[in-house]
Amino acid sequence: MTKALTLVLFFISLSNYATNYRYVIYTDQDPPTKANEIVRMFQNTVPFNEFELEFEVRQMPTEDLDCSRTYPEVPRIIECDTGHIMTSTFTDGFDQAMVVSDIEGYGGAAGTIPVISSSSPSGTMLHEYMHVLGFCDEYHYLNQQEADLYCRPSNFRRYINATVIEPLEGGYSGDEHARSEHADDIPWYSHISSETPIATSELGTPAGDMSLRNELGLFESATCEHATEQFSLWKPGSRDNIMRDVSLSIGNYAPIVREALQSLLTNSAANAEPKDPEGGENNGSSSFIDSDCPTNNVTESLPLHNKETGLMKGVIDGLEVNPH
Ligand SMILES: [Zn+2]
Repeated sequence: MTKALTLVLFFISLSNYATNYRYVIYTDQDPPTKANEIVRMFQNTVPFNEFELEFEVRQMPTEDLDCSRTYPEVPRIIECDTGHIMTSTFTDGFDQAMVVSDIEGYGGAAGTIPVISSSSPSGTMLHEYMHVLGFCDEYHYLNQQEADLYCRPSNFRRYINATVIEPLEGGYSGDEHARSEHADDIPWYSHISSETPIATSELGTPAGDMSLRNELGLFESATCEHATEQFSLWKPGSRDNIMRDVSLSIGNYAPIVREALQSLLTNSAANAEPKDPEGGENNGSSSFIDSDCPTNNVTESLPLHNKETGLMKGVIDGLEVNPH
C-alpha cells in the first residue's frame, strides 16, 4: 500500500517536473503570418528546440492589445496593454506571452512581455525574448545622450551577458590570478573553458587571438564607449550576435541561453508543484514575476518602468534597426 502510494506520488511529481512550458503569441495580424513565422523560428533555433516548449498563436483584437508608440522621441518602442495581456495569459493557462502587433512600421520592446510589430524581422522577437531571459543589448549606444540613459555600472549587475570589473591597478601575474580575483563577478564563468584565458598581464581574453574568436571568455565591451561615466564593461563573446544585431544568430551564446532556459523551466516546474487552492491561477505565473527572475531585475532600474501598473512595458531598444 505504502509502496503503491510512493509510486503514485513519484509519477505525480515527475509529471509536474516535465510540465511543458507554454508560450502564447497574441496577435491582431490576420492571417497571423508573422506569429507563425516566429513559432517556426523558435522551433528551429538551438537551444530552444532542445526543450519541451509549446507555442500557440492566438488572435487578440487590436483594441485589446492596445499597442501604440508612446515615446515620440523613440518611435520604435511599442507599448501594449500589459495588464490585459497578462490576465489573458494566466486565464488561458500559458506561462509566457509574446505580442505581434499589426501596428505600422518597425519596432520592438521587451520587459515582462516581448512585443514586435508584424513588419519587423522574426529575429527581433528572439532578441526581445532574450531580454526577458536576462540578456542586455550589445550594440554600441551611438551617442552620449543614448549611452547615458543606460550606462550606469549598477544597471549591468543584473544581466547575464555583462559585468563591470575594474582591473587591479597593479595588473595580473596571469590567468590564474585573474580567475581567483574575479570568478565570482562573471555570471557566465562556468561556461569559460580552462583553456581560454581571461587575462594575460592585463585583464581580458585577448581579442586579437583568432584561435579564441569562437570561445566564451571575458571580452571588453564597447557598448558604453560614448557614456559620460567611464567604467570597464565586459561581455562573454568577441563575435557579434543577435544582441548586437537582430539579423544575426545566438552564435556562441547558446550555452548561456540554455542555462537560462533550464533555470526558467526548473522554476516553472517548482512553482507548479504546490497546488494552493487560494493561489488559483497565479501559481503558474510566478515564474516570471518572481524577484529572482532576471526579467524583473532587468526592468526595475530601467528608465521606462511603468510606475502605474508596476510592470515594465518597454525597454528602449536603441538600434534594433540594422544600421546596414
Ligand atoms: Zn534590445
